[in-house]
Amino acid sequence: MFSERYERQVLLPEVGEAGQRKLLASSALVVGCGGLASTLLYCLCGMGVGRIGFCDGDTVSLSNLNRQFLHGVADIGRNKAASAYEKLSAFAPELTLEPYDVSLTDENARRIISRYDVVLLAVDSIASRRVVNRACIAENIPLIDGGINGLNGTLLTVRPHETACLACLFGEAIPPAGKIPSFSPVVSVLSAMQAQTAANLLLGLPNPTDGRLLLFDGSSLTTDFIPISRRTGCPVCGR
Ligand SMILES: [Zn+2]
Repeated sequence: MFSERYERQVLLPEVGEAGQRKLLASSALVVGCGGLASTLLYCLCGMGVGRIGFCDGDTVSLSNLNRQFLHGVADIGRNKAASAYEKLSAFAPELTLEPYDVSLTDENARRIISRYDVVLLAVDSIASRRVVNRACIAENIPLIDGGINGLNGTLLTVRPHETACLACLFGEAIPPAGKIPSFSPVVSVLSAMQAQTAANLLLGLPNPTDGRLLLFDGSSLTTDFIPISRRTGCPVCGR
């Protein structure tokens, strides 16, 4: 009853026909169309999430291409969401793909985010994370954050008002100055884990990063988990 496209994953007991129907009826927003989004967006399309939004106000540059496989040399200077739309609509034309050629701000974030079941953060700035975190808490929409620094990656799911939010995690941390080192294998592993996390949420499966920060170490190929508690008096999710 489904497109042959999904026949291999319908075989999974964790998916099945009912799960595939859920995925096709679901929606996800990916914030950022760079390195993390490259693998992440292809995974979301591959699994058949029916409506997928993605936003980025930035343009492609040559220094992006060590890890941002959504884009090619011919895309340099183009808006990243527009470039992503071209690739993804060729890959999965049966899905509803919604590009936004803007960065999320306190002015537009809630309006855009409120249209989706889950939000995935695929950005490299703490300031952008804070904007999206505030909007997701206000709209009560689950958030999956992925972060990269060199050979290390982090992943945390935020269930608004149930588990720690990103403001609980970051506190008053000042973003590091300068360019963040990034290496494509680690970026791709981490973003594939974000996609699996989205599947866990959308299919109602157990989710190991609810309230636990996953740490991935690319040099040893190991993962670890650190419990993260909600912070009393958090200015974003505190009561
Ligand atoms: Zn909080």
